[in-house]
Amino acid sequence: MRKIIIAIDGYSACGKSTTAREVARELNYRYIDTGAMYRAVTLHFLDKHVALTNPKEVTRALQEIRISFVVNSKGNSETFLNGINVEKAIRKMRISENVSQVSAIREVRVAMVEQQRRMGKDCGVVMDGRDIGTVVFPHAELKIFLTADILVRAFRRQKELLERDDLVDIDTIVENLQQRDLIDSNRAESPLRKAEDAIGIDTTHITIEEQVDEVIRLAMTKMIARIG
Ligand code: C5P
Repeated sequence: MRKIIIAIDGYSACGKSTTAREVARELNYRYIDTGAMYRAVTLHFLDKHVALTNPKEVTRALQEIRISFVVNSKGNSETFLNGINVEKAIRKMRISENVSQVSAIREVRVAMVEQQRRMGKDCGVVMDGRDIGTVVFPHAELKIFLTADILVRAFRRQKELLERDDLVDIDTIVENLQQRDLIDSNRAESPLRKAEDAIGIDTTHITIEEQVDEVIRLAMTKMIARIG
């Protein structure tokens, strides 16, 4: 069966990454977490004290960055920044609190989108983010847009952080998600919005398994339609 591109966009903590990862596993596709790329850039910028308002400094810093994904022994993709595993570091609140400011910078988006297009050029990818269906792959065969109630999202994120031994109170998480949604949706460069041809799925009352099954069903329908 010919491989397709599956774009999964939506608000923070709606289950995009988990869904995308599981769908990729089931279909034997490559999973690309574009949020992790913006998080890795943020980590580098914070560590190097890059002035976000200085385009020259930003451009220079971007040239120093190499981001890659390596699949670990459990079959999960981990993020590497200049050859160092930063998977744990990029999930910290310090990064969540700064990533939307970094990802709103034009130079950052241009560099990341170029890399994402290269990663997806052979199809057979599930890519999750904010602008995959609108900017990165506007011709993706399947576009999904996930939403969920803010408290449900916050509790899911809190559980994820706890699994990484990071205890963060629920109010801090709600505030961070709302803040990021606001910046991500209102920035000038590729704001978060649902592509016209994206299929919306509200994940508030459904399980991850149901989300995954639904996306696979939709993917199969697209793949069969391409044969027929
Ligand atoms: O998906 P995740 O919550 O890890 O993404 C972190 C941040 O990266 C988002 O809040 C957003 O600012 C940025 N992002 C983006 N475009 C993408 C993916 C993520 O701007 N395609």
